[in-house]
Amino acid sequence: MPHHLLTLNAGSSSIKYALFARHDDLSTPVLTGQVEGIGVAGGPATHEDALATVLARIGNAHVAAVGHRIVHGGTGFDRPVLIDDGVLAQIDALAPLAPLHQPHNAAGVRAARAAFAGVPQVACFDTAFHRAQPALNQRFALPRALHEAGVRRYGFHGLSYESIAGQLAATGLPTGARVVVAHLGNGASMCAMRDGASVATTMSFSPLDGLPMGTRCGRLDAAVVLHLLSQGRTADDIARLLYRESGLLGLSGLSSDMRTLLASDSAHAREAVDYFIEHLARELAGMAAALRGIDLLVFTGGIGENSAVVRERLVAATGWMGLGAEGAGAVQVRVLRTNEESVIARHTAALA
Ligand code: ADP
Repeated sequence: MPHHLLTLNAGSSSIKYALFARHDDLSTPVLTGQVEGIGVAGGPATHEDALATVLARIGNAHVAAVGHRIVHGGTGFDRPVLIDDGVLAQIDALAPLAPLHQPHNAAGVRAARAAFAGVPQVACFDTAFHRAQPALNQRFALPRALHEAGVRRYGFHGLSYESIAGQLAATGLPTGARVVVAHLGNGASMCAMRDGASVATTMSFSPLDGLPMGTRCGRLDAAVVLHLLSQGRTADDIARLLYRESGLLGLSGLSSDMRTLLASDSAHAREAVDYFIEHLARELAGMAAALRGIDLLVFTGGIGENSAVVRERLVAATGWMGLGAEGAGAVQVRVLRTNEESVIARHTAALA
């Protein structure tokens, strides 16, 4: 059995995994899957139990190293690192910045360390790609002390943007080309990049900001939160509202799934899609402004890769920026498949 690399993406109720053969080019896993229902009746009780199921599924593959997707790397991590006790403590310490994701990512690391004693483990951070942003673009217009205390624009989906940047580099993009990547999945964001580096991005302190998403509100007046607090709603309640009950689901009252909305003839579903397109168009203009222009728009993620309707409607709404039907405008439009697991596998191979 040749040596393998295992990548893990541990969420609140699931672990997604991909197994790569160590000595191929690490673009395509030999096996992928997910174990769902952690903590749900009938499902695995803990991340350790879920990982035991992963182990049973990968059979006798010899795992030489494990790569983890970690949502938050704070200001300290601008690249992947080998995990030791100190790194794990730093990952834990960042939990207050990403309470809905980071503790589960850390639980995945702990479970993997227990299951694969002595095997190198690598942390790949979704924020790391954006540490290259100009300092100005990492700030909020808040008193400076808050920036020092960690209230910053971090940005997310970095492993996806790194995947796209790598694919673009392989196609020989001209130096200095101004690229906006639209990662449109259940979570959605855009990244303005130049020469493979992040210049600006729509998500900021948390993965709530920017574009409307499946169940998240996107950009929102902070006074809405103050208003809800003053009405006696708790922080947990508001978090559930903004992360789980808003976005396409909240607007449509029907579904967070773009396919369902596009197929529906309900007026609220139509309005949810219209809102999505409208705010994609506005945020795209913002990303192009950060680059002082745009040469290429790349679509990726489940919606970006698969929905020609959404792509065409966005391009039609941004004709004034020089975007035209695929291939026709002054600005190029491309569709690329993001491959975050491959990015994690390559970093893991390099560090382990
Ligand atoms: P995640 O962010 O959870 O990884 P994905 O990137 O898989 O999610 O994106 C999921 C979204 O992609 C869903 O809204 C789904 O409806 C949408 N999607 C997938 N295929 C299509 C399609 N053919 N047309 C429109 N939307 C699609």
